[in-house]
Order: sequence, then C-alpha cells, then structure tokens
Amino acid sequence: MSFKETKIVTMGGIKMMARKAHCPNFNHGRTNVPVRNCPVCGEVVNSKISQKVCSEGKHAKGRREQNAYCIDCGAQLT
Ligand SMILES: [Zn+2]
Ligand SMILES: [Zn+2]
Repeated sequence: MSFKETKIVTMGGIKMMARKAHCPNFNHGRTNVPVRNCPVCGEVVNSKISQKVCSEGKHAKGRREQNAYCIDCGAQLT
C-alpha cells in the first residue's frame, strides 16, 4: 500500500483535499499538531518538531497505547 497518494474526495458536496484518505487519524490536516509523527501511519505531521531519539521504554508505552508508530521518532512499533 502506498502512503504517498493524493486524493480528492467529496464530502457533503464540498470538495476537499484529503491527502491521506486512508488514514483516520485526526492529526492530518491540522496545523498545530503536538506530535511529530502520526501514530497510525507514521507520516510526519509536524515537521517543526525535531525528531527524538527514544528509549525502548518510550516505545513500549506507545505499544500499550496501541500506536502503530512512535509519535516522537516515527519508528514502527508493531
Ligand atoms: Zn496518519
Ligand atoms: Zn520513538
């Protein structure tokens, strides 16, 4: 599956850009996202936040929260 497609979807008659129509995470499309990476697809949603080097404990916490990707460094957790 590609995560790089751009799609235009129509919702309620209003055409809007849905860059990641397949990803349900609310972080996409917001401007001030408090996390660097999307926990669902791992894409960078706020590049202003610098990438962190995480401990394994941090990733274990992410797994408990059922994140597929780390919100701080984008590493795949599952
Ligand atoms: Zn996503
Ligand atoms: Zn991490």
